Amino acid sequence: MTFQPLPTVTDDTAPFWEGGAVGELRINRCRDCRTWFHPPAPVCPACISINVGPEVASGRATVAAYTINVQPWAPDMEVPYVLAYVELDDDPSVRLTTRLVDCAPDQVAVGMPVEVTFQAAADIWLPLFRPVKDH
Ligand SMILES: [Zn+2]
Repeated sequence: MTFQPLPTVTDDTAPFWEGGAVGELRINRCRDCRTWFHPPAPVCPACISINVGPEVASGRATVAAYTINVQPWAPDMEVPYVLAYVELDDDPSVRLTTRLVDCAPDQVAVGMPVEVTFQAAADIWLPLFRPVKDH
């Protein structure tokens, strides 16, 4: 098992961490002004509405920045791996911090289209991203 710290799940973040069970990337969205936002919160950052909740995003994104970790910070950590900020196609102002998989570190590039995939860990599903295969 690969070492990785797992997030603390709250009522607000549970839909995000559990959506992978059914293959859904769930991102909070305002039902009044339709703004997507992340991390999940009970109030819309754009219009202060509390009429917010998770919606299913496309799962498509673009690599905005990345770094390659080569240091095994724990004895069972597999390296190298790619940490990335990805911008969601649904709204590029919404960025997720994630890991890229199914991609050699030297093949990663800013602007690369990626799609979500999920890795089960304990009772949550980590949203990871991989290169889009149909291009
Ligand atoms: Zn709003």
